Amino acid sequence: MRIVKGPRQECGVPLPLQPRRVQAPEPRRTTVYGIKAALLIPGRGEPFKDGAVIVDENKIAWVGVQSSIPSKYSNLPFSTVPVLMPGLWDCHVHYMGTPPGNIGIEGLLSQPGVLSGARTVRDLEQTLMAGFTSVRELAGYAGEMTPAIEDGTIVGPNVYSSIAPLSMTAGHGDLHGLPYSAVVDACSHGLCLAICDGVPECIKAVRLMIRRGAKVIKVCASGGVMSKLDDPEDRQFSDEELKAIVDEAARGKRVVAAHCHGREGILAALRAGCKTIEHGTYLDEECVAMMKEKGAILVATRQIVAAGLDYLDQFPPESQKKLIETSKYHEAAYKLAIKSGVKCALGTDQAESQLGTQLSHGRNGKELWYAVKAGMTPLEAIEACTATSPETLGEHFGPKSGQLKEGYDADLIAVCANPLDDISILAEPSNVTHVWKGGKLYKST
Ligand SMILES: [Zn+2]
Repeated sequence: MRIVKGPRQECGVPLPLQPRRVQAPEPRRTTVYGIKAALLIPGRGEPFKDGAVIVDENKIAWVGVQSSIPSKYSNLPFSTVPVLMPGLWDCHVHYMGTPPGNIGIEGLLSQPGVLSGARTVRDLEQTLMAGFTSVRELAGYAGEMTPAIEDGTIVGPNVYSSIAPLSMTAGHGDLHGLPYSAVVDACSHGLCLAICDGVPECIKAVRLMIRRGAKVIKVCASGGVMSKLDDPEDRQFSDEELKAIVDEAARGKRVVAAHCHGREGILAALRAGCKTIEHGTYLDEECVAMMKEKGAILVATRQIVAAGLDYLDQFPPESQKKLIETSKYHEAAYKLAIKSGVKCALGTDQAESQLGTQLSHGRNGKELWYAVKAGMTPLEAIEACTATSPETLGEHFGPKSGQLKEGYDADLIAVCANPLDDISILAEPSNVTHVWKGGKLYKST
């Protein structure tokens, strides 16, 4: 399908690499308005030509072909765009405000939390301007910054955060190079990590996250790449601890996202009832079967693994080795999951507060390209990045979002050309010409 380009926007113009503040216009409220598009991609279901959406306050009031717009809407103000689709979701992201050139949480200990928050302000803007109107933050500071986004103090996407990841002592969320007491002290003073061991501490840790505003609980069910001394193939937490975390989260209507690379960790997390598997590096046929049986969702975070290899020198030496090793298996596991029909949502694991790299906030759209490379069609990748995404938050906290559908959140984007022809269109933020979040226009080029 050929789509005519918008009048003022050329595709494929790369963002300048030098730091600059994103020009976010003052959010403009228009009570009821319409958007017409040469192509409308609904998020779930078939795209269609000459579509239109009517927005009423912060919700979508009507969707259909332009020739069927109800007469009561015919005198509304309409914008016209080439391609209209739901705002994108990044289901695995971190806003940590790390010092420039410093990948890893250790760097956060040497700066005040408010400085992390200050750096995060720009990262949140970059995310929204790239077309990502919602994120699931699986550890970071944005969860506690959400009130400032919601009251308009700062500009950013809808944030659904776990606050911290729950880690056992010596687990992926521990800082192995520092005295234990220093880590525990930093956690109790707001660092976005949480250490717990044994059932009672696990239950308490879930409650503490809920107390700080968590909409989802994250647990580290295997070792990781960024932690120094653990092995990504080793499982972490006992069955009893995992079950206690899932049960306590469920009492608060939260689902649990499980960071896991190794297959034993994946299987243990699934047995305990975790809703999503993050990374899934060593996922095999047995894991695939259990994911399908349990209705679990894979968030593969392909971008951090693939693009991370291009920035190896920025990782600590121990992490470099682990990244190289896990990268040998990661894409094959993702391909197996897609081919086998495992439900997938997209997440990048973006965490770096620095402009101009593929790991920087705002480069989230490349994850769709990786999904297509791993076997999804462009339409499937868009569905995984929109309609499926709220499901990673469970029934209670998953909003009506990610689809152009009546009654859904009015989170929409316009792009300058058809991403079904070339999915990499969505990887370049300058190709996203318009961003509406909650019915308000935040970007218009
Ligand atoms: Zn992560």
